[in-house]
Amino acid sequence: MFSLPHIGRAPCNGSDRSTDKEGRPVIDVEEDGASLEKLLRWCDPRCTPPALETWDDVSAMSNLSMKYDAPCVIRRVSECLQGSSFIAKAPLQVYAIAMRVHNRQLAQMAAAEASRIGIAKWKYCTELDQMSGSAYHHLLTYHLARAQAAVKVLDQSALSKVNYSEMRAGKSVFGKPSWSHSEGCSGGWWTDYIQPFRATIEHYPGSPLFSRAFTIDMQMTKCTNCRDDVQEFTTKFVVGLANMIDQALKQVSHSLR
Ligand SMILES: [Zn+2]
Repeated sequence: MFSLPHIGRAPCNGSDRSTDKEGRPVIDVEEDGASLEKLLRWCDPRCTPPALETWDDVSAMSNLSMKYDAPCVIRRVSECLQGSSFIAKAPLQVYAIAMRVHNRQLAQMAAAEASRIGIAKWKYCTELDQMSGSAYHHLLTYHLARAQAAVKVLDQSALSKVNYSEMRAGKSVFGKPSWSHSEGCSGGWWTDYIQPFRATIEHYPGSPLFSRAFTIDMQMTKCTNCRDDVQEFTTKFVVGLANMIDQALKQVSHSLR
Protein backbone atom coordinates (compact mmCIF):
# COMPACT_ATOMS: atom_id res chain seq x y z
CA MET A 1 0.00 0.00 0.00
CA PHE A 2 2.77 2.42 0.92
CA SER A 3 4.52 1.82 -2.34
CA LEU A 4 1.62 3.39 -4.22
CA PRO A 5 2.65 6.26 -6.48
CA HIS A 6 2.33 9.60 -4.73
CA ILE A 7 0.21 11.40 -7.25
CA GLY A 8 -2.81 13.61 -7.60
CA ARG A 9 -2.44 15.71 -4.45
CA ALA A 10 -2.16 19.43 -4.57
CA PRO A 11 1.14 20.60 -3.14
CA CYS A 12 0.90 21.84 0.44
CA ASN A 13 3.81 24.20 0.30
CA GLY A 14 4.02 24.70 -3.41
CA SER A 15 7.23 22.74 -3.76
CA ASP A 16 6.64 19.12 -2.85
CA ARG A 17 3.65 17.14 -4.11
CA SER A 18 4.25 14.08 -1.93
CA THR A 19 4.63 15.40 1.62
CA ASP A 20 2.50 17.42 3.98
CA LYS A 21 3.53 20.55 5.84
CA GLU A 22 5.51 18.53 8.36
CA GLY A 23 7.26 16.65 5.62
CA ARG A 24 5.37 13.39 6.18
CA PRO A 25 4.71 11.31 3.08
CA VAL A 26 1.27 11.78 1.56
CA ILE A 27 -0.53 9.13 -0.47
CA ASP A 28 -3.84 9.95 -2.10
CA VAL A 29 -6.42 7.18 -2.05
CA GLU A 30 -10.04 6.96 -3.13
CA GLU A 31 -11.39 5.84 0.25
CA ASP A 32 -12.67 8.17 2.94
CA GLY A 33 -10.91 8.47 6.27
CA ALA A 34 -13.32 6.21 8.15
CA SER A 35 -12.89 3.32 5.70
CA LEU A 36 -9.15 3.71 5.68
CA GLU A 37 -8.98 3.75 9.47
CA LYS A 38 -10.93 0.50 9.59
CA LEU A 39 -8.58 -1.06 7.06
CA LEU A 40 -5.53 0.00 9.06
CA ARG A 41 -7.06 -1.28 12.31
CA TRP A 42 -7.60 -4.66 10.68
CA CYS A 43 -3.98 -4.58 9.50
CA ASP A 44 -2.54 -3.91 12.95
CA PRO A 45 -2.82 -7.00 15.19
CA ARG A 46 -2.48 -4.79 18.28
CA CYS A 47 -5.76 -3.01 17.46
CA THR A 48 -9.20 -4.22 18.37
CA PRO A 49 -10.82 -5.00 15.02
CA PRO A 50 -13.69 -2.73 13.98
CA ALA A 51 -17.16 -4.19 14.49
CA LEU A 52 -18.70 -6.07 11.57
CA GLU A 53 -22.29 -4.95 11.90
CA THR A 54 -23.58 -5.57 8.40
CA TRP A 55 -22.47 -7.60 5.40
CA ASP A 56 -21.49 -4.31 3.75
CA ASP A 57 -18.81 -3.94 6.46
CA VAL A 58 -17.46 -7.40 5.60
CA SER A 59 -17.71 -6.80 1.89
CA ALA A 60 -15.94 -3.44 2.08
CA MET A 61 -12.98 -4.95 3.95
CA SER A 62 -12.90 -7.90 1.57
CA ASN A 63 -12.68 -5.54 -1.41
CA LEU A 64 -10.07 -3.29 0.21
CA SER A 65 -7.92 -6.25 1.19
CA MET A 66 -7.82 -7.27 -2.47
CA LYS A 67 -7.34 -3.77 -3.77
CA TYR A 68 -4.39 -3.08 -1.47
CA ASP A 69 -3.06 -6.63 -1.58
CA ALA A 70 -3.46 -7.06 2.19
CA PRO A 71 -4.50 -10.73 2.66
CA CYS A 72 -3.94 -10.46 6.42
CA VAL A 73 -7.04 -8.23 6.58
CA ILE A 74 -9.46 -10.70 5.06
CA ARG A 75 -7.86 -13.53 7.05
CA ARG A 76 -8.59 -11.66 10.28
CA VAL A 77 -12.10 -10.85 9.05
CA SER A 78 -12.68 -14.54 8.29
CA GLU A 79 -11.62 -15.48 11.83
CA CYS A 80 -14.21 -13.05 13.20
CA LEU A 81 -16.89 -14.58 10.95
CA GLN A 82 -16.53 -17.97 12.65
CA GLY A 83 -19.55 -18.50 14.87
CA SER A 84 -21.12 -15.21 13.73
CA SER A 85 -24.70 -14.74 12.56
CA PHE A 86 -23.40 -13.99 9.06
CA ILE A 87 -23.02 -17.74 8.48
CA ALA A 88 -26.80 -18.18 8.72
CA LYS A 89 -27.59 -14.88 6.97
CA ALA A 90 -25.14 -15.13 4.06
CA PRO A 91 -23.70 -18.66 3.87
CA LEU A 92 -22.60 -18.45 0.22
CA GLN A 93 -20.81 -15.15 0.73
CA VAL A 94 -19.10 -16.44 3.87
CA TYR A 95 -18.15 -19.64 2.07
CA ALA A 96 -16.55 -17.65 -0.77
CA ILE A 97 -14.42 -15.70 1.68
CA ALA A 98 -13.49 -18.81 3.67
CA MET A 99 -12.31 -20.58 0.53
CA ARG A 100 -10.34 -17.55 -0.57
CA VAL A 101 -8.30 -17.49 2.62
CA HIS A 102 -8.29 -21.28 3.15
CA ASN A 103 -10.14 -21.03 6.45
CA ARG A 104 -11.17 -24.68 6.67
CA GLN A 105 -13.33 -24.37 9.77
CA LEU A 106 -15.31 -21.42 8.43
CA ALA A 107 -15.73 -23.09 5.03
CA GLN A 108 -17.18 -26.17 6.72
CA MET A 109 -19.63 -24.11 8.80
CA ALA A 110 -20.76 -22.03 5.82
CA ALA A 111 -21.02 -25.04 3.49
CA ALA A 112 -23.21 -26.88 6.01
CA GLU A 113 -25.51 -23.88 6.27
CA ALA A 114 -25.62 -23.38 2.49
CA SER A 115 -26.53 -27.06 2.11
CA ARG A 116 -29.21 -26.84 4.80
CA ILE A 117 -31.01 -23.95 3.06
CA GLY A 118 -30.85 -25.82 -0.28
CA ILE A 119 -29.55 -25.01 -3.75
CA ALA A 120 -32.79 -23.25 -4.74
CA LYS A 121 -31.88 -20.44 -2.32
CA TRP A 122 -28.33 -19.98 -3.62
CA LYS A 123 -28.82 -16.57 -5.15
CA TYR A 124 -26.16 -14.68 -7.07
CA CYS A 125 -23.83 -12.55 -4.97
CA THR A 126 -20.74 -10.60 -6.02
CA GLU A 127 -18.56 -12.87 -3.88
CA LEU A 128 -19.32 -15.65 -6.38
CA ASP A 129 -17.32 -13.67 -8.95
CA GLN A 130 -14.27 -14.20 -6.78
CA MET A 131 -14.92 -17.89 -6.13
CA SER A 132 -13.01 -20.43 -8.16
CA GLY A 133 -14.83 -23.09 -10.13
CA SER A 134 -13.22 -25.78 -8.00
CA ALA A 135 -14.43 -24.13 -4.77
CA TYR A 136 -17.98 -24.10 -6.15
CA HIS A 137 -17.57 -27.70 -7.24
CA HIS A 138 -16.52 -28.67 -3.69
CA LEU A 139 -19.63 -27.00 -2.33
CA LEU A 140 -21.91 -28.79 -4.77
CA THR A 141 -20.23 -32.14 -4.14
CA TYR A 142 -20.55 -31.63 -0.40
CA HIS A 143 -24.24 -30.72 -0.67
CA LEU A 144 -25.00 -33.76 -2.83
CA ALA A 145 -23.10 -36.04 -0.44
CA ARG A 146 -25.15 -34.71 2.47
CA ALA A 147 -28.39 -35.19 0.54
CA GLN A 148 -27.39 -38.75 -0.27
CA ALA A 149 -26.43 -39.50 3.35
CA ALA A 150 -29.70 -38.08 4.70
CA VAL A 151 -31.88 -39.99 2.25
CA LYS A 152 -29.96 -43.18 2.97
CA VAL A 153 -30.87 -42.89 6.64
CA LEU A 154 -34.53 -42.44 5.75
CA ASP A 155 -34.45 -45.42 3.40
CA GLN A 156 -32.79 -47.54 6.08
CA SER A 157 -35.67 -46.76 8.40
CA ALA A 158 -37.96 -48.57 5.97
CA LEU A 159 -36.05 -51.78 6.63
CA SER A 160 -37.23 -52.03 10.21
CA LYS A 161 -40.75 -52.24 11.52
CA VAL A 162 -41.96 -50.92 14.83
CA ASN A 163 -45.06 -52.11 16.62
CA TYR A 164 -47.35 -49.57 18.16
CA SER A 165 -46.97 -51.47 21.42
CA GLU A 166 -43.20 -50.91 21.29
CA MET A 167 -43.77 -47.23 20.60
CA ARG A 168 -46.14 -46.99 23.58
CA ALA A 169 -43.58 -48.78 25.73
CA GLY A 170 -41.20 -45.88 25.10
CA LYS A 171 -38.94 -47.60 22.62
CA SER A 172 -37.28 -45.16 20.21
CA VAL A 173 -39.05 -45.17 16.89
CA PHE A 174 -36.86 -45.61 13.85
CA GLY A 175 -38.73 -47.54 11.24
CA LYS A 176 -42.14 -47.81 9.75
CA PRO A 177 -45.14 -48.93 11.76
CA SER A 178 -46.13 -52.56 11.42
CA TRP A 179 -49.79 -53.13 10.69
CA SER A 180 -50.33 -56.41 12.47
CA HIS A 181 -53.42 -54.99 14.17
CA SER A 182 -55.56 -55.36 11.07
CA GLU A 183 -55.35 -57.51 8.00
CA GLY A 184 -57.24 -54.90 6.04
CA CYS A 185 -54.73 -52.11 6.72
CA SER A 186 -52.25 -51.68 3.91
CA GLY A 187 -50.41 -48.84 5.62
CA GLY A 188 -50.83 -46.72 2.52
CA TRP A 189 -50.89 -43.55 4.61
CA TRP A 190 -47.30 -44.23 5.63
CA THR A 191 -46.12 -44.15 2.00
CA ASP A 192 -48.12 -40.96 1.38
CA TYR A 193 -46.50 -39.45 4.43
CA ILE A 194 -42.93 -40.53 3.72
CA GLN A 195 -42.60 -39.66 0.00
CA PRO A 196 -42.75 -35.84 0.31
CA PHE A 197 -40.68 -36.17 3.46
CA ARG A 198 -37.99 -37.96 1.45
CA ALA A 199 -38.04 -35.30 -1.31
CA THR A 200 -37.66 -32.51 1.25
CA ILE A 201 -34.75 -34.21 2.99
CA GLU A 202 -33.05 -34.67 -0.37
CA HIS A 203 -33.28 -30.96 -1.18
CA TYR A 204 -32.73 -29.61 2.32
CA PRO A 205 -30.52 -32.09 4.17
CA GLY A 206 -30.68 -30.63 7.67
CA SER A 207 -32.77 -31.43 10.66
CA PRO A 208 -34.28 -28.16 11.96
CA LEU A 209 -37.13 -28.20 9.47
CA PHE A 210 -38.29 -31.70 10.37
CA SER A 211 -40.45 -30.98 13.33
CA ARG A 212 -42.02 -27.93 11.69
CA ALA A 213 -42.73 -29.41 8.28
CA PHE A 214 -43.71 -32.97 9.02
CA THR A 215 -46.63 -33.13 11.29
CA ILE A 216 -48.96 -35.72 9.91
CA ASP A 217 -52.18 -34.77 8.19
CA MET A 218 -54.69 -36.94 10.03
CA GLN A 219 -56.96 -37.04 7.00
CA MET A 220 -54.25 -39.09 5.34
CA THR A 221 -54.92 -41.94 7.72
CA LYS A 222 -57.82 -43.94 6.39
CA CYS A 223 -57.35 -46.83 8.82
CA THR A 224 -59.23 -46.19 12.05
CA ASN A 225 -56.99 -48.57 13.99
CA CYS A 226 -53.87 -46.67 12.91
CA ARG A 227 -55.44 -43.27 13.48
CA ASP A 228 -55.27 -43.46 17.27
CA ASP A 229 -51.51 -43.95 17.20
CA VAL A 230 -50.37 -42.11 14.11
CA GLN A 231 -49.77 -38.72 15.71
CA GLU A 232 -47.60 -40.08 18.49
CA PHE A 233 -45.82 -42.49 16.16
CA THR A 234 -44.85 -39.90 13.55
CA THR A 235 -43.81 -37.35 16.17
CA LYS A 236 -41.42 -39.87 17.72
CA PHE A 237 -40.29 -41.06 14.31
CA VAL A 238 -39.32 -37.52 13.24
CA VAL A 239 -37.27 -36.98 16.40
CA GLY A 240 -35.50 -40.32 16.02
CA LEU A 241 -34.88 -39.76 12.33
CA ALA A 242 -33.55 -36.24 12.87
CA ASN A 243 -31.02 -37.58 15.37
CA MET A 244 -29.92 -40.33 13.01
CA ILE A 245 -29.57 -37.88 10.11
CA ASP A 246 -27.60 -35.45 12.26
CA GLN A 247 -25.17 -38.25 13.09
CA ALA A 248 -24.88 -39.23 9.43
CA LEU A 249 -24.31 -35.63 8.30
CA LYS A 250 -21.46 -35.21 10.78
CA GLN A 251 -19.62 -37.92 8.89
CA VAL A 252 -19.82 -35.94 5.64
CA SER A 253 -16.90 -33.54 5.48
CA HIS A 254 -16.20 -30.70 3.12
CA SER A 255 -13.01 -31.00 1.11
CA LEU A 256 -10.72 -27.93 1.02
CA ARG A 257 -8.10 -28.16 -1.67
ZN1 LIG B 1 -53.81 -49.46 10.19
